[in-house]
Amino acid sequence: MEGFPSKLPGVGTTIFTVMSRLAAETGAVNLGQGFPDFDPPVRLRELVSAHLGAGHNQYAPMAGLPALCDAIAEQAARRHGWPVDPAAEITVTAGATEALFAAIHAIVRAGDEVVLLDPCYDSYAPAAALAGAKVRRVPLALPDLSIDFERLAGAIGPRTRLLVVNTPHNPSGAVLSAADWERIADLLEPRDAFVLSDEVYECLVFDGRRHAGVLSNPRLRERAFAVFSFGKTFNATGWKVGYCIAAPPLTAELRKVHQFLTFAVSAPMQYAIADFLREQPAFADGQAAFYQARRDRFLALLAPSRFRLLPAAGTYFQLADYSAISGLPDVEFCEQLVRQHGVAAIPLSPFCDEPFRARLIRFCFAKDDATLERAAGPLLAIR
Ligand code: PMP
Ligand code: GLN
Repeated sequence: MEGFPSKLPGVGTTIFTVMSRLAAETGAVNLGQGFPDFDPPVRLRELVSAHLGAGHNQYAPMAGLPALCDAIAEQAARRHGWPVDPAAEITVTAGATEALFAAIHAIVRAGDEVVLLDPCYDSYAPAAALAGAKVRRVPLALPDLSIDFERLAGAIGPRTRLLVVNTPHNPSGAVLSAADWERIADLLEPRDAFVLSDEVYECLVFDGRRHAGVLSNPRLRERAFAVFSFGKTFNATGWKVGYCIAAPPLTAELRKVHQFLTFAVSAPMQYAIADFLREQPAFADGQAAFYQARRDRFLALLAPSRFRLLPAAGTYFQLADYSAISGLPDVEFCEQLVRQHGVAAIPLSPFCDEPFRARLIRFCFAKDDATLERAAGPLLAIR
């Protein structure tokens, strides 16, 4: 049937898919879509095989395998000092994407306003639109993509139901501080409003800083959904196992959506991750140093280039200013980069409502030395 109105008229194929496809077609080095080119830890893969062979192949409990929820709560307490009730506050989801979607649909009603900070991850706005919300976008402040609290205060009003925040931030790598969360609490506390904090890069905070998550702020604890992804923690983006931590009444509502969105998440993966978290609880702690070394390698390789590299405090992304190279808009520049120079990157405009105001593109440095070196050659040759 043709001619019926789309529920998401502005949505096409995501820029990540488009760029990965272009990279494959042209044989370019893919520093676009965010995924590591190394595997999850060997022991974790062994555990998956073991559980596949041990008959753990039927439905897991709807909210998540209790052993995994317990292990997540132990990690949250050990790594961040967050007291979390595994039975009432944790829901295991099909990646962070499902947790984000379920949280939005659990709390946002038709006609509510959802506030996003641009540039932001591409799944938030369509999820809010499908919930019938009006999306209000507040640009982050250049050059460091920090929150412009004056503009944010101006966007939050009586209809605001949800603010979506992301730290460490994709695509900039910026991280929030405890003081930022206090200011967010000041804005939300007087209202009937919630916060959805996307913390999928929680393990990837560099230079000795500590992750400041929403769950550390007692004023926000009762109105916060915090979302995480084992895809990032274990270099396993293809597994799509994530989780949401939220106060019991919020978790109860989130589970109502999760129950009918996926019902339950891959059982053998959950068994394996639960075992691995118990066997090697410190693995996640080592990821920051590992990725910081990747970042520093990439920075050193590109130092002589004409790109200006912005400081990245977290994530596995590096922003690069190309204004000394080209006056093209970012989407066109990325097309040229992949087709003429053989390197795929991600433009920032698809993370925003309007074309992005600065000449910035995003590289993913979650790659081994050989890949980074293969990308550096053509990038250095651009004069
Ligand atoms: N949020 C952000 C900021 C991301 O970068 C990603 C994907 N990399 C996700 C959510 C989705 O995570 P997942 O793959 O676990 O669904
Ligand atoms: N989160 C990944 C990124 O930012 C992409 C995920 C996806 O392809 N949907 O690159």
